Amino acid sequence: MAAMLSLSNVLMRFGGIVAINDFSMEVEAGSIHALIGPNGAGKSTVFNCISRIYQPATGKIVVRGQDVTALPPHAMAGLGVARTFQNLELFNELSVIENVMLGAYAHEETGFWQRLKPRSPATRAKAEAILEQTGLQDFRDVKANSLDFGRQKLLELARALAGSPKLMLLDEPAAGLRSREIERLDQILTDLNQRHGITILLVEHVMQLVMSISNRITVLNFGEKIAEGTPGEVKTHPRVIEAYLGA
Ligand code: ADP
Ligand code: MG
Repeated sequence: MAAMLSLSNVLMRFGGIVAINDFSMEVEAGSIHALIGPNGAGKSTVFNCISRIYQPATGKIVVRGQDVTALPPHAMAGLGVARTFQNLELFNELSVIENVMLGAYAHEETGFWQRLKPRSPATRAKAEAILEQTGLQDFRDVKANSLDFGRQKLLELARALAGSPKLMLLDEPAAGLRSREIERLDQILTDLNQRHGITILLVEHVMQLVMSISNRITVLNFGEKIAEGTPGEVKTHPRVIEAYLGA
């Protein structure tokens, strides 16, 4: 199997707290892989290590064969890695399509002023295509903050797509969504994965979504991997049941 991403023996500490301990995992290219675990297990910390916001004390992170452990955060977009955040990070006063176009600039440039360059027709065309993929085409000209919450979450996803990622790190994309919205998200992610070949690493508490779309699931508890496998294997794993029920 070709690895899109691998983490080997990653350890991340905050003062005296070990947030991630000797953590290893591999995400196969072309797969949807979920990272689950109770609150505080270290899931967002894993994302922050991959996106280079946090520097692990030890361990190695490799993206498509390249060791990225010493790279700065802005180098990750160039390697085809995009992410969304647990809390919405949108430009509220800008329109939906402008938010997506700025996602594309954020990919190409790192400076704020460069992002204010005139929007090229190519950038707009690409943004239009992404709005279609995420079902936001009818909302292109409304302000981001006038969208309902479910569509704001989709706009976060749309913005990450503007960088043409090969690997997307999604931090709780279904949090706060209603079940119809979760079904729509399920379809969108499946389509991005199967038709557009995007590998997805997903942190998510909504088990309906995790169990339906994941090829593989890794389970964290107190910073350590306690289980890994297919949805069927993980669901019945005694350590997973114990961690979730607090038994
Ligand atoms: P999860 O996303 O699984 O809920 P986190 O990765 O956010 O968990 O947190 C894992 C642990 O690391 C928690 O104990 C949390 O308090 C700690 N932690 C995370 N980020 C920081 C930080 N910037 N400073 C101090 N402690 C942190
Ligand atoms: Mg988190």
